[in-house]
Amino acid sequence: MSGVVIIGAGHAAGQAAASLRQAKYDGDITIVGDEAHIPYQRPPLSKAYLKGEQTADKVYLRADSFYADRDITMKLSTTATAIDTAAKTVALSTGETLSYDHLLISTGSRPRKLSIEGSDLPGIHYLRTMDDVDGLREGMRPDANLVIVGGGYIGLEVAAVGRELGLNVHVLEMEERILQRVTTPEMSAYYHQLHEGRGVHIHTSTAVTGFAGDGKVEAVICGDQRFAADLVIVGIGIIANTELAEAAGIHCDNGIVVDEHCRTSDPFVYAAGDCTNHPNPLLERRLRLESVPNAMDQARVSAANMLGDEKTYAAIPWFWSDQYELKLQMVGFSADGDSQVLRGDMASNQFAVFYLKDGLVVAADAVNSPKEFMLCKQLVGKPADPALLADPGSDLKALLA
Ligand SMILES: Cc1cc2nc3c(=O)[nH]c(=O)nc-3n(C[C@H](O)[C@H](O)[C@H](O)COP(=O)(O)OP(=O)(O)OC[C@H]3O[C@@H](n4cnc5c(N)ncnc54)[C@H](O)[C@@H]3O)c2cc1C
Repeated sequence: MSGVVIIGAGHAAGQAAASLRQAKYDGDITIVGDEAHIPYQRPPLSKAYLKGEQTADKVYLRADSFYADRDITMKLSTTATAIDTAAKTVALSTGETLSYDHLLISTGSRPRKLSIEGSDLPGIHYLRTMDDVDGLREGMRPDANLVIVGGGYIGLEVAAVGRELGLNVHVLEMEERILQRVTTPEMSAYYHQLHEGRGVHIHTSTAVTGFAGDGKVEAVICGDQRFAADLVIVGIGIIANTELAEAAGIHCDNGIVVDEHCRTSDPFVYAAGDCTNHPNPLLERRLRLESVPNAMDQARVSAANMLGDEKTYAAIPWFWSDQYELKLQMVGFSADGDSQVLRGDMASNQFAVFYLKDGLVVAADAVNSPKEFMLCKQLVGKPADPALLADPGSDLKALLA
């Protein structure tokens, strides 16, 4: 059997298979995934699914029948163990070997783990899969002490859910401010205040040195500080799953290196999603992104190029985060700006911040302003008068002309 083999059954995999069939590809398509689930959305795992508001069937990207109806073979609970690029085959943990004409590697990423005293105690969790959430939800009960290690987006989303469910929540962040790696001091301060206002205890410049407990975690140790814990959730970043590609001799360097067509160093092997290091022609640099839009777009481009279309992946990165009733949407990298303009009032929890460089909009953050965000996305790369951007009465659409 040949055709297209897709390794990893996540966002990129599900989209690539769908795009191939949409483009009328009628060869074999096989998705190999080491989880037990058909492709599902990860964002709800730290939001509505964690809170118990969204059921598993609503988390799946597409229903089971979608794949069956389109003759897309799913090999779940199955790990791809080796790729032979010369023979164009993939070895599986089941002992089976699949042949391919084209291969897509969409192995995603895995949580970075702590390896310190007590870090393997029961009650310490990471959050990447549906099974991870199912395994920790029982501990999310009112009045439990939840300690979150890492004040990034995932940690803060979990903190919000924790408070909404009535837990005592502490967030431990080793940097001087939460979200330090991903946003400006102003946005960090905004989210810090928001969470403290909802009862989250945030401790910055606080590095975890160990965990203590008898048979299960009971405390998180940070030097001479000790935080009581019934449940710990660690969100300290991810590591791209590149080992399989590397072992096959495919060029990797902070991700699987692909060109603007999502092609790896092997012309028959593509890669998409969190695992890639890809060029962004609009930003004129290489990126490794951890976002759904990136995974989906790269999957579409990979599928088109497998069919001989020569499509290029060129998009300004965007991302979102839901905390409490607030939806934050971001486009571009705020760190690229040399000045910023606030539109609206932060205290009202509905505003946008534009980041400019040399008179051009390079990025924007929008809170509870989804309509404006659509225009923010279009404004990136365009010149804009800061006074007009700052005036909530001005029409952003007019700036696009
Ligand atoms: C809790 C959480 C919240 C998030 N929230 C947001 C958000 O709000 N907005 C946003 O844009 N992004 C968010 N993300 C990031 C987003 O989910 C990822 O960027 C996206 O899932 C990447 O898709 P992917 O297809 O590259 O990888 P994944 O969805 O991770 O899929 C990769 C799959 O491949 C499997 N795999 C790996 N190696 C093998 C192998 N050898 N054989 C078989 N299978 C293998 C993995 O187990 C996994 O199932 C969030 C992520 C998490 C974990």
